[in-house]
Amino acid sequence: MTTSCAPATPTTLDVLSAGVRAPLATGGDIEYAALDYAASAPVLRRVWEEVAEYAPYYGSVHRGTGHLSRLSTELFERSRETVARFLDCRPADQVVFTRSTTDSLNLLAAALPAGSRVFVFETEHHAALLPWAHHGHHVTYLDAPDSPEHAVALAESALATLRGGPALLCVTGASNVTGEIWPIAELAAAAHRHGARIVLDAAQLAPHRPVSVRELDVDWVAFSGHKLYAPFGAGVLAGRADWLADGEPYLAGGGATRVVNRLADGGVSVRWATDEARHEAGSPNVIGAFAIAAACRALTEAGHQTLVDHEQRLLARLRDGLAAVPGVTELSLFGPAADRVAVASFTVAGRDNGQLAVQLSERHGIGVRSGMFCAQPLVRKLLGASADSAEDCDGPLQALRVSFGAGTPEEHLTRL
Ligand code: PLP
Repeated sequence: MTTSCAPATPTTLDVLSAGVRAPLATGGDIEYAALDYAASAPVLRRVWEEVAEYAPYYGSVHRGTGHLSRLSTELFERSRETVARFLDCRPADQVVFTRSTTDSLNLLAAALPAGSRVFVFETEHHAALLPWAHHGHHVTYLDAPDSPEHAVALAESALATLRGGPALLCVTGASNVTGEIWPIAELAAAAHRHGARIVLDAAQLAPHRPVSVRELDVDWVAFSGHKLYAPFGAGVLAGRADWLADGEPYLAGGGATRVVNRLADGGVSVRWATDEARHEAGSPNVIGAFAIAAACRALTEAGHQTLVDHEQRLLARLRDGLAAVPGVTELSLFGPAADRVAVASFTVAGRDNGQLAVQLSERHGIGVRSGMFCAQPLVRKLLGASADSAEDCDGPLQALRVSFGAGTPEEHLTRL
């Protein structure tokens, strides 16, 4: 694999993968068209440079009195503040650094009060669909809606069955399959009307649109650094402190404790931290947190609207192009006019869509994703398969997904 040098006109949103070349099965190579941002976005050059600048000063966080430890601790804590600003959090909200969105939602599931009821649409990514039952909560699965209004109506009628007690609605901001944007503010209002709380899975929304915790009035937000142009396996769970401070620590270990004593009866007692540290046991991923904060700063500085305009222009180009190809069907829950981020999935009639993805790579240097995108109930529904069909994501039930963002040139979509 070879890489070329930086593009001619660097901007805040240049990506490191620009100019990377991919080998072709037919011989030679071609500029790689990275069209799988929804899985992992390329790293912003600016994020990489900031990380490289910080790297010599890397040290253990919250554990040392030396210069580098103190500096790293300060940068780690400042990264929380940057993320809180990026998400427009309330002053008392916590920002917990995790490994990913999956980790964030599992953390919240583990921290929910005992006896919580959870409501989740069947259309969710598995990371948002599965943690709740896995952690022993009573889950109500909501059917796939056919419009944003229908989503709110379905949530309203399910939430109306609540009779007190802790409850949570979990909703995606933008689908990782169709790119469609969900009516988050309306769903938050519905949840709160019925005494429930709401967590927003912003894994696909935050890289494309501004997310304001206060404007949307959501209780928690989860996202992943690697989809937001940062590398290094870090994610975020941000939101209300109370359930997090009361919930069981996610992991037991150093850093999450205040006092640990050996007791006279032979046991050990623990007083756990009640701030973010409660759920961050072990040495934290300081470079991951720092990189997320750098990505938040870059996106804020570039102005989200610049990115939205770029993406929407290319999305229109992509969708027009796909519509002109015989046999291509775009997957959609809410219909063609729905507002969507730069993610689109489709099938090609009479073709093995998994094989098509391989051919796009080998013959054209285009990286897309095929399969069911970790949202099997949704993809089965969109492909018209029976809900209990047993195909896994390598079976014949496959779609192709194209996703892109900062740094994507129009040529990549034209080539596709
Ligand atoms: N939620 C959505 C909507 C996603 O698209 C993804 C990943 O594709 C996740 C959650 C899980 O993210 P991660 O794999 O970073 O934990």
